[in-house]
Amino acid sequence: MYHNIGIEGRKTHTIAYVDIERCIGCKQCEKYCPVGAIRVVGKKAYVNWMQCIGCGLCANNCPQKAIIPMLRYIPAYTR
Ligand code: SF4
Ligand code: SF4
Repeated sequence: MYHNIGIEGRKTHTIAYVDIERCIGCKQCEKYCPVGAIRVVGKKAYVNWMQCIGCGLCANNCPQKAIIPMLRYIPAYTR
């Protein structure tokens, strides 16, 4: 029997998305992130979406405007 929990039970969570083309690897985002969710590797920033709390500090301090807050959909049963 099919249960529709993955759609009806979804919740949203704001996360930081990095536009890799704009990122210059300056590490400002890494410096400001309060939970250590963003790391610069090989001159590009990567966000651990499991750790990101969507505070927006990285986006506010990125000189390249390379970070965009986005909504991530999470199934309710993955809490
Ligand atoms: S602050 Fe912006 S440009 Fe600098 S490393 Fe982070 S995402 Fe890249
Ligand atoms: S939005 Fe906040 S928690 Fe998420 S990566 Fe940026 S500074 Fe870190």
